[in-house]
Amino acid sequence: MLESFKEIEVVCPTCGETKSINIPESLFSQKKFGTIKIQVPVNAVCPKHQFIVFLDTKGMVRGYEKIDIAMLVTPAETKKEAAGILTLRKLIQLFGTYGILSLMHAKIFNYPSYIIKDEAFEPTEELLNLISNRILPEKYRGHNSIYLLEESNYSKIKLKEKKALLIDSLTKNILQTPWKEKLKFEEEIVKRALEIINEEDQLLLLQQRIAIFIKEAEQAKDILENVNEIYEEDLIEQVSREVLMPRMNQNRLILIKEFIKHNFSQKLVSRIKSRVDEFLSSL
Ligand SMILES: [Zn+2]
Repeated sequence: MLESFKEIEVVCPTCGETKSINIPESLFSQKKFGTIKIQVPVNAVCPKHQFIVFLDTKGMVRGYEKIDIAMLVTPAETKKEAAGILTLRKLIQLFGTYGILSLMHAKIFNYPSYIIKDEAFEPTEELLNLISNRILPEKYRGHNSIYLLEESNYSKIKLKEKKALLIDSLTKNILQTPWKEKLKFEEEIVKRALEIINEEDQLLLLQQRIAIFIKEAEQAKDILENVNEIYEEDLIEQVSREVLMPRMNQNRLILIKEFIKHNFSQKLVSRIKSRVDEFLSSL
């Protein structure tokens, strides 16, 4: 049976360029995953920008997210890729930019990732886990969290763990993300990494930036273990002072809270008080 398509008008969230894209009807017959994130690469709708469209199960556009990464168009595969090594560029080809940002987010914040594979999908589960573990500091490595699924019928997919990332490697659609936060941190470091030509140095940069973040999170955890409660501003100031980094912003604090929640304990996070929340609840 030929697959039928639904035409959906999509607008580039950066410059307003508009175009219709065809989405398989089968995507909407599934009610299981709710909103699906569709990756729109450069040239699909807009010649300059890539972005994400959020589609609900009726095929209505529910929102957009910009991806501020310009992909360098490298014509031929590199020597390393020819030798079977998965470079960052190759991984982005396989999963899309947002797919890679999502896989990184899942790894850092300790969520399992499920990847629906088709026959053409080459990397093994073992290799993907090996690479994904390498972006973390050594003591956080070890356990595998990426699983390949053979089942491509969305309504038949059963995930062992519900709070998981789910990506379809064929369409690069993101079927489920178990988090609410945007992937700005991952976007920032992948952007920096892609500015580097040497592929091993790209990985090194990702490792370093993630290690700095985790160091901040560990520092915050140490501080929280020794107080009953602490104001956000005081925690930010203390952590920044201890790790000798510029004062972190609110977004970084959100990520640190998530990291502590998923890797250590939710209890520690609840010790963080916000003056804004206190003010609002006193009104
Ligand atoms: Zn655009």
